[in-house]
Amino acid sequence: MNKYKFTLTILLAFLVFSCAKKEINQPDPLVTNRDTTINPADDFFMYANGGWFKKNPIPNSENSNGIFRTINDTVNAQIKQICEKSAEVSNPVLGSNEQKIGDFYASGMDTLAIEKKGIAPLKPYFDKINSVTDTKTLVNTIGYLHTIGCAPAFSFYIGQDDKNSEKNALMLSQGGLGLGSRDYYFNTDKETENIRKEYVKHIQAIFELTGTDKSTAQKDASLVMKLETELAKNSRKLEALRDPQKNYNKFSIAQFKTQTPDIDWNSVMTSLLVKNPDSVIVGQPEFYVALNKMIKSYSVEDWKVYLKWDLINTYASYMNNAIEKQNFYFFGTVMGGVKEQKPRWKRIVEQTNGSLGELIGQVYVKEYLPKGSKEKLLEIGNNIRDVYAEHIKKLDWMSDATKKKALHKLSKIVMKVGYPDKWKDMSAVSIKRNAYCENVIATNKWAYNDMINKFGKPVDRTEWGMYPQTYNAYYSPSNNEICVPGCNIIVPGFEGRMPDDAVLYGIIGGSTFGHEITHGFDDQGSQYDEKGNLNNWWTEEDLKKFKEKTKLIVEQFNEYEALPGKFVNGDATQGENIADLGGVVMGYEAFKKTKQYKENEKIAGLTPDQRFFLAYGYAWMVNIKTESLAQQLLVDVHSPAKYRINGPLANIPEFYKTFNVKQGNKMYRAKEKQITIW
Ligand SMILES: [Zn+2]
Repeated sequence: MNKYKFTLTILLAFLVFSCAKKEINQPDPLVTNRDTTINPADDFFMYANGGWFKKNPIPNSENSNGIFRTINDTVNAQIKQICEKSAEVSNPVLGSNEQKIGDFYASGMDTLAIEKKGIAPLKPYFDKINSVTDTKTLVNTIGYLHTIGCAPAFSFYIGQDDKNSEKNALMLSQGGLGLGSRDYYFNTDKETENIRKEYVKHIQAIFELTGTDKSTAQKDASLVMKLETELAKNSRKLEALRDPQKNYNKFSIAQFKTQTPDIDWNSVMTSLLVKNPDSVIVGQPEFYVALNKMIKSYSVEDWKVYLKWDLINTYASYMNNAIEKQNFYFFGTVMGGVKEQKPRWKRIVEQTNGSLGELIGQVYVKEYLPKGSKEKLLEIGNNIRDVYAEHIKKLDWMSDATKKKALHKLSKIVMKVGYPDKWKDMSAVSIKRNAYCENVIATNKWAYNDMINKFGKPVDRTEWGMYPQTYNAYYSPSNNEICVPGCNIIVPGFEGRMPDDAVLYGIIGGSTFGHEITHGFDDQGSQYDEKGNLNNWWTEEDLKKFKEKTKLIVEQFNEYEALPGKFVNGDATQGENIADLGGVVMGYEAFKKTKQYKENEKIAGLTPDQRFFLAYGYAWMVNIKTESLAQQLLVDVHSPAKYRINGPLANIPEFYKTFNVKQGNKMYRAKEKQITIW
């Protein structure tokens, strides 16, 4: 791993994509990652990746290991260089990007200053909470805490109106849960029961570490759990959040007040820094009706305890060692199964990137992103879009009328690739060298203000929701756009050389571009039109057929038992599973057009077909700790990595042919059960 990191850092800077010379002396990861003792027709995920897993156990400081961690290690090493170089500059210009990055990183590494301050950076906010005397000051304080990066009692954000994507609207949705997902408060398996028990102990420990006496801390911890459980009881389940129509409830502020008479929304909006709102889009109105009752049924003193918990829970990672350790113990070890913390530099690099990613991205693009990345990514993306159009035209289950609309939507998908043309202005943020927690708060406030400033202004369709150094991608239904950051060009094991087309189309073409484009046509995305508005463009008949198909995907994934007694949630993960299936189909179709495929030339002993499917398997090479897998099943709309490979491939006839999948093999699904959608 280290060797890899080192090589990549040096080589990437010189990598120009026109030099596609194959270097036979480098081992081929598609060959070496395999575990050939496993039959690919039974478990392709382990066949494609098991060899790598054996050689690379999950480190004690990580919850998983695989392609994501490998790429993130590479990028983190580069960001570390950016941070350290910036921190070493003597007398940087105050307010310059260099000063901000350098001082932020240095403040995080300055454990002496952090230790000395303890919880002092949070004192003004504790004072604010302590000054609450009645319901009115309570709800205003809840609003205020949102502006500094906390999110007590509910979720609030400014986003595009789903029914009018030209407009930025106020959005309210369920929230306020320290454990993140409602199921943690109610599931009765023994692991989840243990998490609840440990959570109460954790809250007590944190309160004690902030100076509360033991018996009060104990009482307060039970109270927080009780209050959060009531919020959870009134929250929708993960799968119920998927329906954009049911989670879109627009009210005038006056109407909303009649449903929630004990919350003065005008006053709350003022504390949220929103000026003159006339309406609000509420995701789950019943949650707010319940919250309204809770504002009265819990005393002001009870609420103050909950708010203090939310505050310290938000900022525990930036406190003195004892609080930080306790926080890691619960969220890292108990919930995620991670035994030890990552080295400090890595944590601070990740935080600096999280807080100042907009500034770091500018250096990353200039100094680390291989030249030609953007162009190569775009070329792959455009080829995928082309085969997508061909596929839609050939679909046997869709009418010409709907096809026309689908093709129109496809042609309008905006591709944001590589890096943005303009960067956000962070000049309003001031960063100090010896004030880590204050720096994090300052950047959180900046991010909040950046969001609030959108209200009442036209939607900026050029804005990016990810940094170029983020190894991830997204589809935004409201913008009908995909975003594929530059670092998606990295394929570990191909340092300094261009991967062959099977690899490019298996990973970047299939699991990235194909996957994201398909989100425009999954159970949610398909409800939005080419302009990003919730607006049905399907004929009734076609919609019925589409729903029958997505139901089959739900049923297929419901059958996967990821842990003993714990199954994949087919409903909650259906959008991602539809996207995975569409992705691998389109990646393969685009690959079929390449010279490599047509000439049927073997590379490293593998046929083009073998290489393509192995590359697709490589895209989700992720080995995860049991605790983190259990967590993923409860909170994540993505299926576990294993099923992101075995699930879609079990529907692909070409895969059956390539790896000789027959009745009796574990991957086998009868012909009539094999699902094709796009
Ligand atoms: Zn996705």
